Amino acid sequence: MTTSDHYDVIIIGSGAGGGTLAYKLAPSGKKILLLERGDYVPREKDNWSTRAVNLEARYNTKETWRDSEGKELHPHTNYFVGGNTKFYGAALFRLRKEDFGEIRHHGGISPAWPISYDELEPYYTEAEHLYQVHGNRGEDPTEPWASAPYKFPAVSHEQRIQHLHDDLERAGLKPFHVPLGIRLDEKNARTSLCIRCNTCDGHPCLIGAKSDAQTICVDPALQHENVSLVTNAKVMRLETNGNAREVSKVIVDRNGVREEYSGDIVVVSCGAVNSSALLLRSANDSHPNGLANGSDVVGRHYMGHINSVLMALSKCPNPTIFQKTLAINDFYFGSREWDYPMGHISFVGKLDADTLKAGAPAVAPGWTLDLMARHSLDFWLTSEDLPDRDNRVTVDRDGQISVSYKLNNVEGHDRLKAQLQKAMKQTNCDIHGHECHQGLFARNLYLGQRLPLAAVAHQNGTVRFGDDPKTSALDRNCKAHEVDNLYVVDASFFPSSGAVNPALTIMANALRVGDHLLERMK
Ligand SMILES: Cc1cc2nc3c(=O)[nH]c(=O)nc-3n(C[C@H](O)[C@H](O)[C@H](O)COP(=O)(O)OP(=O)(O)OC[C@H]3O[C@@H](n4cnc5c(N)ncnc54)[C@H](O)[C@@H]3O)c2cc1C
Ligand code: SF4
Repeated sequence: MTTSDHYDVIIIGSGAGGGTLAYKLAPSGKKILLLERGDYVPREKDNWSTRAVNLEARYNTKETWRDSEGKELHPHTNYFVGGNTKFYGAALFRLRKEDFGEIRHHGGISPAWPISYDELEPYYTEAEHLYQVHGNRGEDPTEPWASAPYKFPAVSHEQRIQHLHDDLERAGLKPFHVPLGIRLDEKNARTSLCIRCNTCDGHPCLIGAKSDAQTICVDPALQHENVSLVTNAKVMRLETNGNAREVSKVIVDRNGVREEYSGDIVVVSCGAVNSSALLLRSANDSHPNGLANGSDVVGRHYMGHINSVLMALSKCPNPTIFQKTLAINDFYFGSREWDYPMGHISFVGKLDADTLKAGAPAVAPGWTLDLMARHSLDFWLTSEDLPDRDNRVTVDRDGQISVSYKLNNVEGHDRLKAQLQKAMKQTNCDIHGHECHQGLFARNLYLGQRLPLAAVAHQNGTVRFGDDPKTSALDRNCKAHEVDNLYVVDASFFPSSGAVNPALTIMANALRVGDHLLERMK
């Protein structure tokens, strides 16, 4: 290793956490290295092909993990510059203020965070402005207080979704516009970066109009000459110095060749499964359970949300192009009849017949896949899964990843589905009246309604932060309790998962940790 391989900061992983942190630190002039196991997403027409993306899984990793029974698992995750934000639906929600405290669920306790909502709030605002979130404050009945408005107006509903919105309002609910990180300028369609297409959620944006971590953070960070990026650089291990209190070497496999780097500060941001796997793989004599794992929490408390994709079939067609504009949070904390949280209802991108084939759904009687796709409203339901010590990521001697996960807290999710069913029955149309709604159908009847374990899109919780080193691996600044120069800034730090999409919280926290690091490096 030469001195040129030594950096002030090494960031491993360039997704929501790592990419955002690189952006924050870039103007400091410090020598910063981003190590990313993937390459850039190739720009090609397949970016927008539902067949290539959903049926052929063109951009998913080909790596396999194992489940608790040792069966092969093909994780639906992506290794590229920008991480999973290249593929996300860009729904950028704040957690609710209450999510930072302890909440009693039907299935148990969702634990408190070591920091309050008020401490993260300025960084939520910073992240919303950085990622150019389009939204309207004051519509979402559970939204927490905010110190500034969104900079851009919400993305409008198309006609079918507006109709649904009006029906839901008549039924007494408070549907609202999803805050979205797509750079759509509806007033100036001719110059708008985003063209409002039907292949956003799950797809990379061919024209760079989605606010993902590469476009918004990594590319601008690389404009600073003190920042560099090495792609195809899979970090295999972290080694510690003599007293085991510092990471001294970052060991990389780059296209089969071993490379070594060192940094005054090393930040791990590989996603919740890979970050915990990296720490576990880095066990040594001083850290026998895995690096920074004296608490034995690393890899444990894996969460990924309870998610269902439900298609509401109606007699009227749904010609919507960009569907993910409406959400419902009326049942987030419960209802008059049920005193426990249920969760969040929103949409996935409009499903088509190719996408449905990948889910192997049972065809509803009297329908074809194509007809179903043309008439469905495609809902995405999210409920909180609770941190269970035994839901965990482990690695074997060869570094092979296993994920053991037993679903919990399902009653609230089932009740959320029932609430949606009830609301849909009250919808109306001029031609068919209340008969328009034909029922809710799971996108994937073959595997059951809930998404399978391989759907790790919302993975979090495996390297939790907290004030007590006996029960957490990271302190409130996301620094490892046991290692002085090691930080983790991806979704691993979550002590509980809430029930809204996680990316904005990861970004906001990375900005918060960035401020701490700037102070530390002064
Ligand atoms: C289809 C899809 C839709 C989604 N939609 C939404 C949404 O609408 N809203 C929302 O909030 N969230 C959404 N998400 C989730 C969101 O993308 C993730 O929560 C977020 O990207 C996680 O950020 P992260 O920093 O934890 O990890 P990632 O963004 O996954 O970044 C981790 C990075 O680390 C790299 N890496 C991994 N291991 C190594 C290693 N050993 N060495 C070097 N590099 C490594 C990876 O290649 C990757 O670039 C979606 C996800 C998917 C897949
Ligand atoms: S053009 Fe707009 S809607 Fe289409 S993928 Fe890009 S950001 Fe998403």
